[in-house]
Amino acid sequence: MSEDCIFCKIASGDIPGDIVYEDEHVVAFRDLNPQAPTHVLVIPREHISTINDLEENHAELVGRLYLAAKQVAEAEGIAERGYRTVMNCNAEAGQTVYHIHLHVLGGRPMGWPPG
Ligand code: AMP
Repeated sequence: MSEDCIFCKIASGDIPGDIVYEDEHVVAFRDLNPQAPTHVLVIPREHISTINDLEENHAELVGRLYLAAKQVAEAEGIAERGYRTVMNCNAEAGQTVYHIHLHVLGGRPMGWPPG
């Protein structure tokens, strides 16, 4: 837990989040500023700032982020239509919260390439 991390506080329940899935390892909650009809963020409970901070021992945890994303997509009814998962790394990619999070976006057609 990082004291000044907003996503750690959502994971611990210190501040409210609209949580749609959680287990021992990961938490998924709705984005405050949704960019699609479904916009959920999947985070590890462990504080990891960026993709660049991942270590070998995080390999299973990263897999769990995707397994949770799959469950969220099924629950939201977008699994078959399609959805996008995105994890931004550092400023140029648009990362604003420095606790890794997998965006799960769906419910509308997605453009490519992303902006
Ligand atoms: P990124 O730009 O990839 O770091 O994504 C950060 C995301 O977190 C943005 O889409 C924000 O809208 C979202 N966000 C920031 N604070 C909160 C919060 N307290 N609860 C839910 N989503 C948040």
